[in-house]
Amino acid sequence: MAQLLITGGAGFIGSHTCLALLEAGHNLIVLENYSNSSNEALRRVAELAGVRLGDRITLLQGDIRNQEDLEMAFSQEKKTIDAVVHFAGLKAVGESVQQPLRYWDVNVGGTCSLLGAMKRHGCRTIVFSSSATVYGYPKKVPIQETAIVQPISPYGRTKAAVEKLLTDVSESEDGWCIACLRYFNPVGAHSSGRIGESPYGMPNNLFPFVCQVAVGQRKELKIFGGDWPTTDGTPVRDYIHVMDLAEGHCAALEVLMRERPQVLTINLGCGYGYSVLEVVKAFESVSSMDVPFKIVARRPGDVSCSIADSTLAANRLGWVTRRNLVDMCRDAFAWQKDNPFGYFSKND
Ligand code: NAD
Ligand code: UDP
Repeated sequence: MAQLLITGGAGFIGSHTCLALLEAGHNLIVLENYSNSSNEALRRVAELAGVRLGDRITLLQGDIRNQEDLEMAFSQEKKTIDAVVHFAGLKAVGESVQQPLRYWDVNVGGTCSLLGAMKRHGCRTIVFSSSATVYGYPKKVPIQETAIVQPISPYGRTKAAVEKLLTDVSESEDGWCIACLRYFNPVGAHSSGRIGESPYGMPNNLFPFVCQVAVGQRKELKIFGGDWPTTDGTPVRDYIHVMDLAEGHCAALEVLMRERPQVLTINLGCGYGYSVLEVVKAFESVSSMDVPFKIVARRPGDVSCSIADSTLAANRLGWVTRRNLVDMCRDAFAWQKDNPFGYFSKND
């Protein structure tokens, strides 16, 4: 059992991972500025885990760029923080092209501040949310961790920069235990339907969009390109159930806390991919709803195919995914049906 600081723990991946970490017996302090989330997510996490807010999970409203907020987080409990799981950040690729300063400030500047606070408080263990987007246009799929890092968006470059920063920090002094987890395409929701992905406004990502079309909130899905060099012409992605991803964090943390100091860089994906049309068909079959779609022009910056080589995750973390595309569609749909506006009300 460890005392953990979770940054961005009310977000999509953070909330599911908080639940998995509580179930694994850890105690959590969550630092959140709620810029892209609601504290209702953590209220439900506590309810699912059967714990009281303020008991094994403490919520602190604050920003990772603010030293006072970080001091408050690190001095919160009498016990020291053993490790940080760092989700806080901005994640919209298109927005990062428009607002690069904001992305570098939050994702890179925020991580610098966090690492400074960790140093001051003698905490040297961190799990960082990196992304498959660091690979840019992959030369070979499945993508191994040794593939060239060549991101094609400001967002991807902030993730690559933080990975480099973490390596520099680990080389500057002994004792750092670091995991950079390169997520592929996290989707789905907890099987209870109580927590899930709750995007503000128009979703950018495929799964939330498909869910909203299936329940009639949006007229049709626009599929970005039908002329890609794939079997049916639509792009292929390695979709990973968010609870598998959450369990991947628990596994990484255990390895870091058990082994000698190191920097682990590991893909978290299933190791196989589905096209957009395959996802639409699976979703229709699971939900018994129609998902009308129209094929439109390609989206700038998209890649044809992105699939993880998941061998290293299996070998180093002893972790493999357990949920398939049907589970992802079923759980995403159940969440959408029960929470048509996510954690927000219709008028938010
Ligand atoms: P999310 O937006 O749902 O969660 C991020 C959380 O961080 C939000 O709750 C937000 O309020 C919080 N936050 C943002 N800036 C903050 C700040 N300055 N201080 C404190 N809290 C702050 O996103 P997510 O999908 O859960 O992603 C979590 C992490 O994983 C992010 O770093 C993201 O870049 C990375 N990632 C996500 C995906 C994906 O497809 N969802 C893929 C690869 C990597
Ligand atoms: N996509 C789509 N229509 C949408 C959203 C996404 O056709 O409204 C496609 C997108 O082109 C990509 C796949 O679905 O091939 C997954 O996109 P997403 O944005 O979810 O993840 P990405 O892999 O781009 O980060």
